[in-house]
Amino acid sequence: MLYDEAKGWHSHQIKPYEPICLDPAAAVFHYSQTIFEGLKAYYGVDGRIRLFRPERNMARMNYSARRMCMPSIDEGFVLKALKTLVDIEKDWVPREKGSALYIRPLMMGTEAFLGVKPSSEYIFFIILSPVGAYYKEGFNPIKIYVTDKYVRAAPGGVGDVKTGGNYAASLMASEEAARLGYTQVLWLDAVERRYVEEVGTMNIFFYFEEELVTPALTGTILPGITRESVIQMARSWGLKVSERRITIDEVIEGAKTGRLKECFGTGTAAVISPVGCLAYKGKEYIINEGKTGPLAKKLFEELTGIQYGEKPDPYGWIQFVP
Ligand code: PMP
Repeated sequence: MLYDEAKGWHSHQIKPYEPICLDPAAAVFHYSQTIFEGLKAYYGVDGRIRLFRPERNMARMNYSARRMCMPSIDEGFVLKALKTLVDIEKDWVPREKGSALYIRPLMMGTEAFLGVKPSSEYIFFIILSPVGAYYKEGFNPIKIYVTDKYVRAAPGGVGDVKTGGNYAASLMASEEAARLGYTQVLWLDAVERRYVEEVGTMNIFFYFEEELVTPALTGTILPGITRESVIQMARSWGLKVSERRITIDEVIEGAKTGRLKECFGTGTAAVISPVGCLAYKGKEYIINEGKTGPLAKKLFEELTGIQYGEKPDPYGWIQFVP
C-alpha cells in the first residue's frame, strides 16, 4: 500500500513478488527512513497455521513509525491483510517442525528530494519467505564475542527502533566476531562500555542462582517479543525475573565462580539460543560447561510447543490463519 498526505494510506493490493521501482532521489536511499518487523507463521501439528503474538509486531511497528517520523499503520487492518496473505500462500508454510514462513512487513520513505526532512510519501509492503529449522546441528550453545570497541546504539538514539541503520552500524563488529570464530556480538552500552545490552538479533538473559536477569529496556535495545514472552513464562513458573542494568563484570565474575548457571539469547529467528562461551578482552569464559542448561531447554520446549500447537496456549499468544 502507498501513503501520501492527501490520500493517507491507499492502493492496497496483493500481488506476486516482483522488484519495485523507486526514484534515485527517494528519501530512504539517502536518509534511511525505513522500519520493518519480523514474525513467523507456523504449521501446527493439527494442520492449522499459527501466528505468534502478531499484534505485538504491529504495535512495535507503530512505535518505530512514531520515532522515525513516519505515518502510523492501522494495526487491525494490517494484521488482517497479513493473515489474508499468509492464507493465500499457505502452501509455502513448511511442515517440518522448526521451519516456518517468515513474514517481513516493511515501510520506507519514497518521496524524491535531496535534503533532510521526513518524507511525505511512503510504501508499505509485506514479503514472505520460507525458513528452515534454525538448529540444523541440534540445540547447541553458541559462542559470543563481547565488543568494547564498537557500539550499536546510544542513549537518545534509535536503538529501540527496528530500523535498518541499527543493523548497518552492527556489521563491522559482526564481521570481526565471525573472523575470530564467534557466532554473534554481545553489545555493551555506549556511555561506559560496562553494561550489557543485547546480542546481534537477540535479547540476552543470564540465569544466576535464584534470579533470571535481562537488561532493562532503557531505550537502546530492541523490546523483543520473545524477551517479553520468556519473562512472562519464567514468572508464571515462580522464578524471580529482574529487568535491570547488569555489568559485563558481574557476568564474567558469575561465569568464573559458577554463580552464573546459564546464559541464552531470545528472538523470533533463534527462539532460545543457549550461550556456552563468552569472549571478553581476549579471554574466553565458559558457562555451564559449554552445555545447554535445563532452563533454556524448558523455555525452548514450552515456546516451540505453543507455536506448533503441541502444547496448550495459556497466555493467549496464538492467532490462527485464517
Ligand atoms: N534485538 C534485535 C536487534 C533484533 O533484531 C531482534 C529480532 N527482531 C531481537 C532483539 C529479538 O526480538 P523478537 O523477540 O521480537 O524477535
